[in-house]
Amino acid sequence: MIEKVLIANRGEIALRVIRTCKALGIKTVAVYSDEDYNSMHVKQASEAYHIGEAAPAKSYLNQEKILDVMLSAGADAVHPGYGFLSENDDFARLCEKNKITFIGPTADSMNLCGDKMKCKAAMLKAKVPTVPGSPGLVNDAAEAEKIANEIGYPVMLKSVYGGGGRGIRIVNNDKELREGFESVTGESISAVGKSAILVEKFLEKTRHIEYQFARDTHGNTVHIFERECSIQRRNQKLIEQTPSPVVDEEIRARVGEQVCRAADAVGYTNLGTAEFLRADNGEFYFIEINARLQVEHPITEFVSGLDLVKLQLDIANGEPIPFKQNDLKMNGYAIECRINAEDTFLDFAPSTGPVPDVTIPAGPGVRCDTYLYPGCTVSPFYDSLMAKLVTWGQTFEESRTRMLAALNDFYIQGVETSIPLYKTILNSDEYKNGDLSTDFLKRYGMIDKLTDDLKKEKVEKSEAAIAAAIVHSEYFKSRIQKDSTSSYNWMYKLD
Ligand code: ADP
Ligand code: ADP
Ligand code: MG
Repeated sequence: MIEKVLIANRGEIALRVIRTCKALGIKTVAVYSDEDYNSMHVKQASEAYHIGEAAPAKSYLNQEKILDVMLSAGADAVHPGYGFLSENDDFARLCEKNKITFIGPTADSMNLCGDKMKCKAAMLKAKVPTVPGSPGLVNDAAEAEKIANEIGYPVMLKSVYGGGGRGIRIVNNDKELREGFESVTGESISAVGKSAILVEKFLEKTRHIEYQFARDTHGNTVHIFERECSIQRRNQKLIEQTPSPVVDEEIRARVGEQVCRAADAVGYTNLGTAEFLRADNGEFYFIEINARLQVEHPITEFVSGLDLVKLQLDIANGEPIPFKQNDLKMNGYAIECRINAEDTFLDFAPSTGPVPDVTIPAGPGVRCDTYLYPGCTVSPFYDSLMAKLVTWGQTFEESRTRMLAALNDFYIQGVETSIPLYKTILNSDEYKNGDLSTDFLKRYGMIDKLTDDLKKEKVEKSEAAIAAAIVHSEYFKSRIQKDSTSSYNWMYKLD
């Protein structure tokens, strides 16, 4: 039985894992970089160990160093969170070798899932439809061009090693294809040292719909419903919701059955997500498996009533999944907004620095997973996700209006956030009508709508409120001093 878990991550997901461990009486070990010595996950864990410099390669990606800490702290399991080492099969193998339980799939299964081409081949065998495209890797631009002309432009070039929206490119003709082939190859080589490209039909006005699934070491597989993640920027998710407005009972069960077949086909264990694109004609095409706990897992927790981290721990302990597919009932509607530290008007560029003050929303059906606290810092070294604001309602409308109220309550001083954009989106008729697609922001001119909304708001904002904010930030500035021990001139420390 797992008694002590090292969390090889930071930020809100480290806190999320620590919470469930605490509730189950499991000890937790945090690791942290130079940048994170004041971070919430360090404060909340039973023990915390410094593992290196701010740059991820020098700390959160340093497998040997993390292994050292696991062995010396006597951790019997590791939870990788998402990002960082979570989908690194070498790390999973290193843990296996050292008899440390990796809370996730086996190294071999992860390796299969992580390779978009091998995984697609496994899906074809399991009769799970995939996006039409090249049957295997394409060797060069000429071969890609031949396939593109067969399936018809536009096509998408994908590095099989891509992830998080990187290493993919849409091309519309032979000329763009040749340029795109070179740039995707270059990007992939500079990111992971190798490149292998596949060609896919680019599906227009498509929805991103994915399924949570779980598979135990006894071969039991269940799906835990779908999540619609169509509202994206740069092929990265911003807002997710469940149920999807276009998935009814029949579709849920039919595609869900494919998902279970997919999990069986790759010999998966623990929790994972099968991602699909839903074409405008209603067809579902498998795109990939994310072999880890996903950012948007809380919406599934809301509608299923499950603690998914607890389920991960149970499966890692070798226990059978304690329910059957038919025991799961979907209850209500949930929405998640990823609260990013970014400037919508600077092409979503990260906005980092000290956060002197914050107010975290709460209330019935409101959940906020965040590392923020008054006086914390948003680091430029890591992902821009500061908080996940999640609401539940008996109806979609209740969940939506709770989200709007919570977004209004959320106050984050010091950095730009995606909150204003989300208010505009949630108030739009297109969102209310469930008319979603992965190009939602562009299709409906959401950034222009936001500009109009902000103009209106400025007029309404009282001068007293603005003055109060200025006084507050002056007070904070008087309390902070430059951290002379840090080599980073943007780093501040409370006195
Ligand atoms: P997807 O891979 O389908 O886009 P997610 O949105 O959950 O799913 O994750 C996006 C990608 O970025 C993944 O590769 C994930 O591992 C990584 N990632 C997401 N959020 C973070 C984060 N806060 N820190 C580090 N990596 C992250
Ligand atoms: P990643 O590993 O970066 O998450 P995915 O293959 O999951 O890559 O694709 C990420 C996003 O890119 C999808 O959610 C979707 O918006 C878009 N996308 C991927 N493949 C296609 C395609 N064939 N046609 C249209 N859009 C696609
Ligand atoms: Mg994906």
